[in-house]
Amino acid sequence: MKFAITSKGDSKSNALMHKIRAYLLDFKLTYDEQKPDIVISVGGDGTLLYAFHRYSGRLDKTAFVGVHTGHLGFYADWVPEEIEKLVIAIARTPYQIIEYPLLETIIRYQGGGKETRYLALNESTVKSVDGTLVMDVEIRGEHFERFRGDGLCVSTPSGSTAYNKALGGAILHPSIRALQLAEMASINNRVFRTVGSPLILPAHHTCTLKPVNRRDFLVTIDHLTLLHKDVKSIQYRVANEKIRFARFRPFPFWKRVHDSFVSN
Ligand code: NAP
Repeated sequence: MKFAITSKGDSKSNALMHKIRAYLLDFKLTYDEQKPDIVISVGGDGTLLYAFHRYSGRLDKTAFVGVHTGHLGFYADWVPEEIEKLVIAIARTPYQIIEYPLLETIIRYQGGGKETRYLALNESTVKSVDGTLVMDVEIRGEHFERFRGDGLCVSTPSGSTAYNKALGGAILHPSIRALQLAEMASINNRVFRTVGSPLILPAHHTCTLKPVNRRDFLVTIDHLTLLHKDVKSIQYRVANEKIRFARFRPFPFWKRVHDSFVSN
């Protein structure tokens, strides 16, 4: 089996990365950064986001596992003290795979320029370059509302504990194939109206944002922020692709939510 390791880059994560690599080589596994069967991310949830984007071209062939060197994460749920156990489990393949849904974003441009497509593990957000974001929100091709405010956030179930949660969105179990649309500080008064609640859409529904006047937007895809000019529409839906995590022991999602946000 071929493996790769990504590190957050700090000295603790780098030291752990070298240790895991040496252990796995002792078990006669092959280090292959280009075509790994398993990627071990050492750092935090942010580190796993980077690993996901690095290997997003081979999601059907690569499984991920996260080790945290800071606080307990949602994607990074192994602690450094457990790595001997983890290495033995990896070497003793086959392991169980669990799959989480991803978000597909398609941005189309005025004048028919080539559309761009992204996959997100956590979320995509849209903000105006300056001033209030004004966008029409369509659900399944029907006008739903005209949004005015700071921005909109569309998250995956596993991303629901990240930015979405800070916006008052619900936490969704990652076995639910859905996306969640959450508002950032919408303007609501006698003139302007939005629903005001986060919306959860099933996998067969699309949500499309259409510019009303200004056409340049800052679009984030997880940790990446990109400026898109002359935008015609931004379409969101649950992606056909999924991320695969290598599972070596039970660690229920609701326990992670409890340990991260309630007490540990
Ligand atoms: P960052 O600003 O360095 O870190 C954002 C924080 O979010 C880190 O503590 C990270 O955990 C945590 N995180 C990432 N994914 C998570 C998840 N699925 N559930 C719970 N917490 C999660 O940025 P980054 O490391 O490049 O990560 C980008 C992410 O930051 C975005 O995808 C977005 O979700 C999040 N973000 C949140 C807010 C907010 O809450 N107001 C604002 C902007 C962006 P680790 O420390 O373990 O890496």
